[in-house]
Amino acid sequence: MRIFEQVEHLGHEQLVFCYSGEAGLKAVIAIHDTTLGPSLGGVRMWPYTSEAEAVRDALRLSMAMTYKSSVAGLDHGGGKAVVIADPRTDKSEALFRALGRFIEGLQGRYIAAEDVGTRIEDMDIIRSETRYVTGVCEGFGGGGNPAVTTAFGVFRGIQSAADEVWGSGDLAGKRVAVQGLGNVGANLCRYLREAGAHLTVTDIYPERVEAVVGELGAAAVAPEAIYDVECDIFSPNALGAVMNDGTIPRLKCKVVAGAANNQLAEERHGERLADLGILFAPDYVVNAGGVIHVADELLGFNRERMMARTSRIYDNLKKVLRKAREEGIPPFRAADLVAEERIRQVGRIKRVFTGPFFKG
Ligand code: NAD
Repeated sequence: MRIFEQVEHLGHEQLVFCYSGEAGLKAVIAIHDTTLGPSLGGVRMWPYTSEAEAVRDALRLSMAMTYKSSVAGLDHGGGKAVVIADPRTDKSEALFRALGRFIEGLQGRYIAAEDVGTRIEDMDIIRSETRYVTGVCEGFGGGGNPAVTTAFGVFRGIQSAADEVWGSGDLAGKRVAVQGLGNVGANLCRYLREAGAHLTVTDIYPERVEAVVGELGAAAVAPEAIYDVECDIFSPNALGAVMNDGTIPRLKCKVVAGAANNQLAEERHGERLADLGILFAPDYVVNAGGVIHVADELLGFNRERMMARTSRIYDNLKKVLRKAREEGIPPFRAADLVAEERIRQVGRIKRVFTGPFFKG
């Protein structure tokens, strides 16, 4: 598909190509929708095999950020920067400063944060050229590791889903299978255990499994066996596309809720889960803790406010599930409607003229 066809199809506002030969920078910044406020989204660094692939990724990921921020109640639209480079070998001060200057040139239309292939240190370098960056170190006003907040948000999402299915958000005695024990998964396990849930966990790194088994008394299974675990809740916190033709028939749970982005391999898998009576909590609704965290840094980080907003993921999911019930549609479709509705409503309000009539 041609670039403008894609832009029109997905509803983007702006696509920016950034180049600096000296700094080794080739980047694409996609701004999807700024109705709610400045676009916010991570800087992904990846050795894309083609420029078309990089553009496609920037467009797709920035659009997803619009929906995530909208349902989370943030005053941000969706944006994303992709840098065509290998994060293991191509990082340099010049590259991130050059990107920072391009971001500054957008005057706040896009605000950067960490993503796959970038870290807090990289955001700190971008910050030397622009204020329009978040997810920085604590010395620059950052609030620490956003993944801990993401884990708390997923925990609140699981409580909300439990309330929907069993009439109570109490997780005591509930059996949860957790796939992936990285930054989010390991912290999620702590919240779940504290709430009295029984855990079965897996990861491809045995030392991560051992750490969680040792600390929390979880049971462990091999990575491939996690789909067959008899449980109440299955929580994917590793990879995307894990809800597919091969895995869904194996599930023995009533709820799927986790942090991994794009868990549905295809939309029909969301329909399939609904047909089987399995509540699928849309990933972008429950994994919004990270973006809530970095958005809060832009206001002058306040942990209490940030945690209160993340805690509301419980209500955000409730709203989505209510919509799904009312419309007779699966939750993943209802989430999109809730996101679009807020953008439409706020957009209408923003048409009101607030002055000044005389400029200058
Ligand atoms: P991470 O890289 O720290 O952890 C991922 C874990 O999954 C690793 O321990 C990895 O070994 C494990 N894993 C990989 N393949 C696996 C497999 N086949 N079976 C079992 N385990 C496997 O990443 P993270 O920050 O914990 O994020 C987890 C997921 O949540 C990712 O999909 C990420 O995109 C998404 N997410 C993260 C955040 C955040 O704040 N970090 C926010 C939103 C969404």
